[in-house]
Amino acid sequence: MSEMTSREMTMGNVVTFEPKPTTDEYFGGCPHCGRSDGYVNVGREHWFSCGRHKTKWRAGENLFSGWRDENEQLWQHNRFMLAEYMTVEPIYSASTTQREPVP
Ligand SMILES: [Zn+2]
Repeated sequence: MSEMTSREMTMGNVVTFEPKPTTDEYFGGCPHCGRSDGYVNVGREHWFSCGRHKTKWRAGENLFSGWRDENEQLWQHNRFMLAEYMTVEPIYSASTTQREPVP
């Protein structure tokens, strides 16, 4: 009886936890791996994504001026690509979440 109890305790100690993903990505990272493949524009919206987990999140609008040099054809292409991705809540690095809000 005492032998069985000690074995159960040993098994209980084997439980491992998945490490929580962290990220250094300023505009957030994939909630599964903390990474970002960068962003594409759809009009003036900037969408970041993780190709490995097919996740996407919107960083905002008109933060980067590059979208002005693009065109509807490219945005349509980006829309099709992002349609396969799931919109998620990204994770942010500790330093980013503690950042002072921009006035
Ligand atoms: Zn990912």
